[in-house]
Amino acid sequence: MATREDILVELGLTPTWRRRGAVAALPAAIEREVPGAHALREPVPSFASSSGSAQDRGTRSARIASLSWDDFAADVDSCNACGLCRTRQKSVPGVGDADAEWLFVGEAPGAEEDVRGEPFVGQAGRLLDNMLAALGLARGRNVYIANVLKCRPPNNRTPEPGESDACRPYLERQVELIRPKLIVALGKSASSLLLGTDATIASLRGKVHQYRGVPLIVTYHPAYLLRNLPDKAKAWEDMVLARRTVATSDGSITSTEV
Ligand code: SF4
Repeated sequence: MATREDILVELGLTPTWRRRGAVAALPAAIEREVPGAHALREPVPSFASSSGSAQDRGTRSARIASLSWDDFAADVDSCNACGLCRTRQKSVPGVGDADAEWLFVGEAPGAEEDVRGEPFVGQAGRLLDNMLAALGLARGRNVYIANVLKCRPPNNRTPEPGESDACRPYLERQVELIRPKLIVALGKSASSLLLGTDATIASLRGKVHQYRGVPLIVTYHPAYLLRNLPDKAKAWEDMVLARRTVATSDGSITSTEV
């Protein structure tokens, strides 16, 4: 049976002081695997918030709120509610078990995701898969993975507020369709959108929040962890809290300190 140390090693969460040389070499190795800047097909537009009147946006939100899984991906793929539709190669609606207990929400597709149409398939995705494995989970098995944005921001820049607002109805619908036992917000874009706060990850992690009645844990985005190895140990603490929350998910936990 795997010990906790074994799990930490598998997850890449061993303290960085134990293998200084290996830790120092990792970011460079990672950098080689991360694809270069995506060649844009047209100049990057200055993105505004979702176009149209408030009534139009309300009509659109209501339509998305009634989408079935059968229609969801096609609807995302035809969406032009923000300027990212002009630079994406593929939309990235999300992937996984439609009845999952665990919903992981990241920021936005990157270069590899944009090509393949699936979230978290690059180096950060491999780290997420390792985190799932350490929890006894696997992509697509009791797990659903989505992003705040369904289309890639050029050069992986941070989503703009108007883009997040325009894409918000899709994530809201995914939460309603999945009805997970737990949402794990990976990084600031996800925590900001879902919790409606600009608070830092450091101040939000270690507690069980609520999103529309669903327990929500905040932790670091895997891409951030690849650049900030010491914080991996904190991410593991968050996963332990997440596992405990799912195991006791009856709505009774609302503010548990790690
Ligand atoms: S990012 Fe979201 S709102 Fe913008 S075009 Fe893509 S699916 Fe539509």
